[in-house]
Amino acid sequence: MTLTPSDVRDLLGRHGLAPRKSDGQNFLVDPNTVRRIVTASGVGPDDHVIEIGPGLGAMTELLADTAASVTAVEIDAGLAAVVVERLGDRDNLTVVHADAMRVDFDALGVGTHVVANLPYNVATPLLLHAFAGTNVVDAYVMVQREVADRWVAQPSDPAHGAVSIKLALVADLSIDLTIPRTVFWPVPNVDSVMVRAVRRPDAPDPSTRARVGSVVDVAFRQRRKTLRNNLRREWGPSGAAALEAAGIDPGRRAETLSVAEFVRLTAAVERLTQA
Ligand code: SAM
Repeated sequence: MTLTPSDVRDLLGRHGLAPRKSDGQNFLVDPNTVRRIVTASGVGPDDHVIEIGPGLGAMTELLADTAASVTAVEIDAGLAAVVVERLGDRDNLTVVHADAMRVDFDALGVGTHVVANLPYNVATPLLLHAFAGTNVVDAYVMVQREVADRWVAQPSDPAHGAVSIKLALVADLSIDLTIPRTVFWPVPNVDSVMVRAVRRPDAPDPSTRARVGSVVDVAFRQRRKTLRNNLRREWGPSGAAALEAAGIDPGRRAETLSVAEFVRLTAAVERLTQA
């Protein structure tokens, strides 16, 4: 049973709760949108799902009806208790009261699909964290449009940045459905989209990704500066030499580099700075 705005207010009131802006708490109150999202997620009866931030359980219920199992990870103890009260009789649902950033997604079973209406303030670290290990196969997540634009941006797009590269290293991302702000309570002041992220079969291993991520952070440290400038600041002359060794023009800026160029550059930085 999907919650209406007055159900949400009643449930929160009965549990002495109020929507917490700091945890990005905007609740879905439109049954059609919940159905559209769960259907579009592609989750089926053989799938194991991790839901980040179930809130009051608007999507959790239909996910549990659809998937083999659902693990719902909620940071807010009050909301986790509401989900247990509403849906605790489902054998295939486990509610975990925890900060999803501290949960090891690799420990939650093999071949897992993430479905979530992500809290806006930590959507990017949460998606990166979900893919940090090797377990999560794909994610179908809601975020505000501006964040999604940064996630999917290609080199030289104005929205392209360190995050676009870090995500592209591990997954192919695309923007799917648009979700109007009117289907939430409280109504947020941004529109949202669903993003599909599918793990790349050729994704580098977690340790390589972390190392490339560190070089990406250095390269983007001062966006307007050239790569030569940013790398020299971190590694001195070896930084500039690494660019030459990787066959990358040191006068370029970080936002023009492809994923493959960052992987090459990381190998060169490691060779030259550890020599
Ligand atoms: N899924 C619900 C819905 O669609 O109605 C709620 C979505 S609301 C945008 C985000 C949810 O994520 C909230 O329930 C919030 O408490 C929870 N949350 C925020 N930060 C979290 C974190 N680090 N780990 C787990 N849950 C988190």
